[in-house]
Amino acid sequence: MNKESKHKAIALFSGGLDSILAVKWMQRLGFTVYPVFFATPYLPPERAIESAAMNGIKLIVRDISAEHLQILETPVYGFGKYMNPCIDCHGLMFRLAGEMLAELGADFLISGEVLGQRPMSQRREAMNQVGKLSGYKYLLVRPLSQMLLDDTLPIRDAWVDKNALLDISGRGRTRQLALAKELGIDFFPSPAGGCLLTDASYSLRLKDLQKHNQLDNENLHLLRYGRHFRLNPTCKLIIGRDREDNANIESQGKRGIYLDARDITGPVGYITCCEPDEESYSLALSIFWFYHRKAPDQGYIVIRTGDKRSESFVNKCDETTVNKYYITT
Ligand code: SF4
Repeated sequence: MNKESKHKAIALFSGGLDSILAVKWMQRLGFTVYPVFFATPYLPPERAIESAAMNGIKLIVRDISAEHLQILETPVYGFGKYMNPCIDCHGLMFRLAGEMLAELGADFLISGEVLGQRPMSQRREAMNQVGKLSGYKYLLVRPLSQMLLDDTLPIRDAWVDKNALLDISGRGRTRQLALAKELGIDFFPSPAGGCLLTDASYSLRLKDLQKHNQLDNENLHLLRYGRHFRLNPTCKLIIGRDREDNANIESQGKRGIYLDARDITGPVGYITCCEPDEESYSLALSIFWFYHRKAPDQGYIVIRTGDKRSESFVNKCDETTVNKYYITT
């Protein structure tokens, strides 16, 4: 490791290989690095926390749900393929990291961005737009590609030796994998699977919430789990697809109505409001019963609201009706 530098950096840390490399490379050059993960309901921190722990990286996690939801309204640079406003998102994250500089006693910002790697946010023009949006363009250093980018203050003022930085570009992973080997990094998550805003089905569910002005904490946290059905403008039904969904729905849903089959095992159902109109309520029950595929056409459902329990006899919904209400691609 090089001589310790008096300059310190905050790193945007996603948990992916590029962000691990950026942190490790700068640490090897002697910089103190504070990796930060910005969490939202659609960008949960578990993957980054595990990746940091496996690589001996001390991670700071900050929740930025409120700020991020604002940029989802009308992102300056629009959306990617689905609900992912990547340029605005990176701009926001750099701005928030910039606002943490004084708090952490750091001087500049780094990330694992690689020039030309992502079609939307890592083109040269997009990287400039990210910098401008953040208000901290002058303090950004991208260690993996900085040799190919314009100099910023940390380089002009020789806090960082540009020649010690890298010139990786493009979508290939060969150089990153070689670098990982050199730095002794043998755990990193696969590139896919981080941000749910790049998932077609999740994006549809999110759009539905946005359209109905229901972007509150409970609804957002439930969005990751189960099948979702829009019953009316104020109410949805969610049905778990597996044990994990069922457990998460049970732990996240606080104000709605729970459904369980009385006489057979099956998924958990959750109506997201506590006073649905009669039509939506019986629709919810019959859709719920549809997902007990081996059950007879009629049966009993236990309804749980807070401490209260009751039972209802229902008829199975037909598939055409189920599909009409199902929010899916
Ligand atoms: S993929 Fe998600 S987290 Fe990553 S920049 Fe795009 S919107 Fe932000």
